Amino acid sequence: MSLEDAEKYIGEAARFGIEWVWVGGGEPFLCRNLLPGIVRAAKKVVVPDIHVATNGYWAETPSMAIRELRLLKDAGVNIIGLSIDAFHQGHTPLDYVKSALTAAARVGFKRIGASGQFLSSLDFNISFNRVTENNLKLLEEEGYFGSVQVKREILRLSGRAADLLSPYLPTRSEEELKGAKCDVRWLPVESHGKLRAVEIDWEGNVTTCPGICIGNAKETSLSKILDEFDYRQHPILRILEDHGPHLLLQLAKRKGHTPVGTGYVDGCHMCFDARKYLMKFYPRQLRPVTCYIE
Ligand code: SF4
Repeated sequence: MSLEDAEKYIGEAARFGIEWVWVGGGEPFLCRNLLPGIVRAAKKVVVPDIHVATNGYWAETPSMAIRELRLLKDAGVNIIGLSIDAFHQGHTPLDYVKSALTAAARVGFKRIGASGQFLSSLDFNISFNRVTENNLKLLEEEGYFGSVQVKREILRLSGRAADLLSPYLPTRSEEELKGAKCDVRWLPVESHGKLRAVEIDWEGNVTTCPGICIGNAKETSLSKILDEFDYRQHPILRILEDHGPHLLLQLAKRKGHTPVGTGYVDGCHMCFDARKYLMKFYPRQLRPVTCYIE
């Protein structure tokens, strides 16, 4: 995302009274030079909370971590969140996370968060969950969580997670998931009918749930997209909101989709499978493409 685009989006959203700006990814520190500019743009329109979520890969030592976080704090970031789980620790050593937590506490933020993603449920016995829980416990025992808000969350099965992780999980039949509805734990919205937040990616896609697009902020102003949004006019959201993912799967089947036959972990898994097939029929509403195909 260019800084110019980020400034434009924040400026256009300002009239809706933004409560927070969340900068996530991917990994936002990969665009390290862009972060202070985005934060300054948010401060200019008086956004109360500016939140950056990161895996901490940049925190090789405590002093490096302090330097990075001080720059962000000085720019205006007041909430920092760290992703800590088996999936992230496959790439970012736990020592880096320790450095980031130490630095965050020393620099001082309004809130420091840590989020660990679990598969299926917190007590589901699988190696991913054991690694995540062990790491969180270790950090707690070693005193890294003094002022940190720790959240243990259930991973949403969409995108790569649906393809790569669903084989590890118990499934249910389509019929058993007939009554599934959107799970608001995973949405930046109260419901698809009542937007509370949207995400905007580097291509300008404005999404509710990842991969479900309500407009492109590079082509149309964000305020126009939000003003004119009506889920009943959106061919995918209308089905999801009024009926749920089971009906979306029926639409995909009518258009030629053959479900894998091993069932689905939950409604979101079923929704993602249907959307992945439907994207060729709804290229403007089911975007970005990278949410479905790498
Ligand atoms: S059912 Fe689909 S749109 Fe609803 S929360 Fe799950 S993935 Fe998102």
